[in-house]
Order: sequence, then structure tokens, then C-alpha cells
Amino acid sequence: MSAPLLEIRDVSTFYGAVEALKGVSLTVAPGEIVTLIGANGAGKSTLLMTICGDPRARAGRVIFDGQDITEQPTHRIVRGGIAQSPEGRRVFPRMSVHENLLMGAQSSGINPAPGLEQVFTLFPRLKEREAQRAGTLSGGEQQMLAIARALMAQPRLLLLDEPSLGLAPLVSRQIFQAIRRLNAETGLTVLLVEQNANQALRLAHRGYVLVTGRITLSGTGRELLARPEVRDAYLGGH
Ligand code: ATP
Repeated sequence: MSAPLLEIRDVSTFYGAVEALKGVSLTVAPGEIVTLIGANGAGKSTLLMTICGDPRARAGRVIFDGQDITEQPTHRIVRGGIAQSPEGRRVFPRMSVHENLLMGAQSSGINPAPGLEQVFTLFPRLKEREAQRAGTLSGGEQQMLAIARALMAQPRLLLLDEPSLGLAPLVSRQIFQAIRRLNAETGLTVLLVEQNANQALRLAHRGYVLVTGRITLSGTGRELLARPEVRDAYLGGH
């Protein structure tokens, strides 16, 4: 296997005295989709935020493309090629779709033109609604915009925090299909955090299960879907 693009090595993250991540280790190879599943409060969002350096790991290392980024400020990490689409699809509601997208490129100081072409190919709906205020988009469209905005930075690693949260099943399927297409067509590496374990594990090449700050299981998406512990805890026993 090729050298990992991302390596989390024995990372612990605290909020005050509360240890939210307790020695987490995982890897993401170039071109992979890796899914982290876990219940509410397991520490999934904390892991993505720790990769971006806010909050910072108190112990362990975060290695990106062979470089130790554990102590780097968040803006350097973003410029280095990691983009995050945060939970709750935080778009700027009063700005247009177009302005939201430009903001995504600005944070990395790069030319927006190639990114705009890419995201409009991936999400033609956003092209149709380019001039519309983001706050008036549907939930699914706002999620598309949040992902598209992250893509505008032309990242090498895309971090997605619960992209299907609050979406109707059909709409969340469309979002997962877009992620699959993006990965297949551009080879973009994706680390995805989800409570919707079924769809997320079907999408992923590999996955990890996080339980109260610790990784308890890992394997291919297919292997994890077949594990009784995963079926009982995350798939409603089906
Ligand atoms: P969810 O799916 O509900 O977002 P999660 O798996 O993403 O859950 P985190 O949000 O990472 O979980 O939270 C992990 C733990 O850290 C929880 O116990 C949570 O209460 C705690 N926590 C998260 N953010 C903070 C904070 N800013 N201050 C204190 N504790 C926090």
C-alpha cells in the first residue's frame, strides 16, 4: 500500500479535563474514501477539528503528506491542502451561492475559476442557483454548497462532517453519489464522519468505529457492514 496521505498517531484531545479522544490512530491512503462512524458524542467532530488544529491534540501526532502538522496553525493546515465541510452545513445565508463559493477559494488565496467549473459540473443545481441567497436554498442544496465551498480550495484531503444530517433519504443518497463521483473522477481523498452508518460504509473503501473517544473496530466498508457489533449498534440490527 502507498504511504498514507493522512496519519493520526495515538492522538488525545481534551476539552478542559474531559478527554474526548483517547489515543486515536488511523490512516487514510491517497485516493481513499474512509468513513468514521460512531454515536452522538463519540468524538467524531472532535477528530476532524483536531486534524485542522482547533482544538489541538494534547498528545500524539497528526501527519499529512509526510509532514507533522500537529502544531501548525489552522490557516497553514488549510493552505497545505486540507479542507473541511463542517457539520450543520454552515453557509453564509445572506450571501449568494456565487459569493459563498468565492469565499471558499479566498481562504486559500487561489484562483476561483477552475474550482467553479468543477463544482458546477458536480452540482449543476448550484449553477442554476448561482445568484440566489444561500439562506433560501433547500437543506440538500445547502449541503451541496457547503461541500462545494470546501472544494473551491482545491484540497488534497476533504473532511466531511455528517453530510447527510437532517436530509431526506433521497437527498442524502444524492449527496453520497456526488462524493463517490468526485472520488472516482478526480481521485480526491475523503475522510467522512457519519451517523448514517449504512450509506457511509457502502460508500467507503475503509472505515473505523469510534466509541467514546477510542477506535474499537476497523476494516473495509463491506467487512464492517457485516460485523454483528456494527449491525446491532449502528444499523438497527438489520
Ligand atoms: P455528534 O454526532 O453528536 O456531533 P461527535 O461524535 O461528533 O457527536 P463530538 O462533538 O466530537 O462528538 O464530542 C465528543 C465529546 O466531547 C462529547 O462528550 C462532547 O460533549 C464533548 N465536547 C465537544 N465539544 C466540546 C466543547 N467545546 N467543550 C466541552 N466539551 C465538548
